[in-house]
Amino acid sequence: MEEKVIYIAGLGLIGGSLALGIKRDHPNYKILGYNRSDQSRNIALERGIVDEATANFEEFAPLADVIILAVPIKQTITFIKTLSKLDLKENVIITDAGSTKGDIVKAAERYLADRPVQFVGSHPMAGSHKSGAIAADVNLFENAYYIFTPTSLTKENTIAELKTILSGLHARFIEIDAAEHDRVTSQVSHFPHILSASLMEQAGDYAAEHEMTNYFAAGGFRDMTRIAESEPGMWTSILLTNKEAVLSRIDDFKGRLDEVAQLIFQNDEDGIWNYFNDARQTRKKMKIHKRGGVESSYDLFVDVPDEEDVILEILELLRGTSLVNIHINEENREDIFGILQISFKSARDLEHAQKVITEKTNYKVLIK
Ligand code: NAD
Repeated sequence: MEEKVIYIAGLGLIGGSLALGIKRDHPNYKILGYNRSDQSRNIALERGIVDEATANFEEFAPLADVIILAVPIKQTITFIKTLSKLDLKENVIITDAGSTKGDIVKAAERYLADRPVQFVGSHPMAGSHKSGAIAADVNLFENAYYIFTPTSLTKENTIAELKTILSGLHARFIEIDAAEHDRVTSQVSHFPHILSASLMEQAGDYAAEHEMTNYFAAGGFRDMTRIAESEPGMWTSILLTNKEAVLSRIDDFKGRLDEVAQLIFQNDEDGIWNYFNDARQTRKKMKIHKRGGVESSYDLFVDVPDEEDVILEILELLRGTSLVNIHINEENREDIFGILQISFKSARDLEHAQKVITEKTNYKVLIK
């Protein structure tokens, strides 16, 4: 097998996980890493995520067949400029991991235009609230979309070659134009983060005057605000590099809020019913129940009695199956499907768990 040198700049959650995924299918590849801080650099070396690491970005770039920039968006653009001045291997493939693609693709087309390099934008669409090399996970991108955004520097085989190199991620590769990527993610990712943060702030202010707000907030509220815990720095740069699309979603949403406010004001019972029903039907049709997006998982809800050892009994049945999370919904259960929520990484594990628990117990098992 051909041996390649892969250079990953930024050994955080994304860079570290990409390195582990590449190694899984290509143990013979040499993985070099750059990281600014000692901490993640040392962890990456200790965990065998990279073979060698540097604190000087320029040091390893000329040795690489593939360069992956897995640093914040602004820094990715700075590194693209740096790469344009270095003496790189002929035909080196350069890619990135940024959550928005427009500015990065523009920078690559501008600064790397006359260089003998290939460039394609990448957005591996999986993440977590954790960061740093410590959080790197070989399974992070399993079944997740890995989006390529081609540029004028993408050659006929660039994407095919990257797919082979990244095969160990077990991701779902897809190609889309950078501007369309940014528009679609503004709707399904960026705007929901704004909404979630706004809702959290609103509830926080309200709680100052209505103390019970803190106690009554339950499943629905938790679902709507989970992503308000995301890393502020990353979200600031996402919004500032996708301004136009995000502002358009905000404007559109204001109109929708006005519309529902008007229906309520006018006591329009049918109108309100239709408003909810349309949303319900649309949600049923959308493919959001399948894994593919950021931080998604497969959830199983088990309606268990409040008795000793029940949870242990279920976990015993799941011995050998890897769980992403386990949660006991013990507060207000009004809008929750079952008291024990177990999250799995793959549909296969979910189906297995559903089968075993249904066969071996009398508890009601639900998949949301
Ligand atoms: P992280 O905080 O885990 O790692 C970021 C890395 O960049 C670290 O190694 C850090 O040392 C380095 N870094 C930060 N600022 C730097 C600077 N000014 N100069 C040099 N190095 C610097 O973050 P992450 O989640 O791995 O994010 C990396 C990239 O991946 C970002 O562009 C982000 O938009 C993108 N991304 C993140 C997610 C997610 O959910 N976390 C998902 C998809 C894509």
